[in-house]
Amino acid sequence: LVPRLQPFTSTIFAEMTALAVRHDAVNLGQGFPDTDGPAGMLDAAKNALFGGANQYPPGPGRPELRAAIARHRLRYGTDYDPDTEILVTAGATEAIAASLLALTQAGDEVIVIEPYYDSYAAAVAMAGAERRVVGLVERDGRFALDIEDLRAAVTERTRAILINSPHNPTGTVFTRAELEAVAALCVTHDLIAITDEVYEHLVFDDAEHFPLATLPGMRERTVSISSAGKTFNCTGWKIGWVCASPELVAAVKAAKQFITFVSGGPLQPAVAHALDHELPWVEDLRTSLQDKRDRLAAGLAEAGFAVRPTAGTYFICVDVRPLGFEDAAELAWELPERVGVAAVPVKVFTDHPEEWKHLLRFAFCKRNEVIDEAVTRLRKLR
Ligand code: PMP
Ligand code: GLN
Repeated sequence: LVPRLQPFTSTIFAEMTALAVRHDAVNLGQGFPDTDGPAGMLDAAKNALFGGANQYPPGPGRPELRAAIARHRLRYGTDYDPDTEILVTAGATEAIAASLLALTQAGDEVIVIEPYYDSYAAAVAMAGAERRVVGLVERDGRFALDIEDLRAAVTERTRAILINSPHNPTGTVFTRAELEAVAALCVTHDLIAITDEVYEHLVFDDAEHFPLATLPGMRERTVSISSAGKTFNCTGWKIGWVCASPELVAAVKAAKQFITFVSGGPLQPAVAHALDHELPWVEDLRTSLQDKRDRLAAGLAEAGFAVRPTAGTYFICVDVRPLGFEDAAELAWELPERVGVAAVPVKVFTDHPEEWKHLLRFAFCKRNEVIDEAVTRLRKLR
């Protein structure tokens, strides 16, 4: 393995899920739902499978899916041309990797917000670029973006900034003011923004998702990325997409076409159906996830953890110190065997493990009885 990929030999999700399976643990580690997406979407996939949609789709994605993505994006007031400004990818993961491969290279710096989704660091490394990490700070009861820290991270080598909101793993949803500050920096320093919006529909209470691309000066410099997995409970389908200017989409496509070329042929029309017709189903998902968040948060508090607030995504972070633990990773490794629950330590998503070592992430995209069983088991930690 080449040196630049040596830090990335395994993922925490694969490791924790394997450990959960070994100990028959309730898996609140890897974030994936335990129920299916809308029946209409599954039917559409079945019809496509039996209707002959089983060969290569067009390189940029099936036209009806690109049109549906464009219509969906209009909800934010941004208009993308399905022919030149939208690209279907193998999940958001490929979109992120292809964007970094296409737009950054050795000598470039990419600003990444910490804690960061694990594929960001690996994809920056594959591109040969360097990550420059800016940590979220706990402020006013949430994990906030410190604009001064962000400003200080920009150098003459900065080429791009990766922004994930709603944010995995903290559950933070960036405010309009935070995003405006990011936008101002991008415009001033002529940076490309790559936004990971896979949890765009999973926002709670009065939180609202603002795509960075909607802010002045950002439409032409932002690669907006999302995916069907989280919105329609189909994480295994790996249908994602990029919305950006024709120049940026052409660049991302140049990389993407030699990674997978295309993927998910019969699933693409089903996701098109879902984007056009299943948003009421997504609204029900959102409300049920908000209840699950409250259910798990209450249970984790009862079990003795200090629970951090979650405004979006399907993750909750807790501080393990009130239970007498110092390092959440040590706890995470023994938790499946000790009480039969799996969770993910936040420090693995950072370059500063000491600062983040007390936080543990739990996923709540599970049936209520599964959440309740996990809580019952976690109570034994006291
Ligand atoms: N970004 C974030 C923040 C995620 O949590 C995930 C995984 N769920 C992804 C990207 C990957 O999305 P996909 O499965 O569509 O590749
Ligand atoms: N995005 C999911 C999570 O954060 C897992 C994705 C994966 O397994 N790579 O839990």
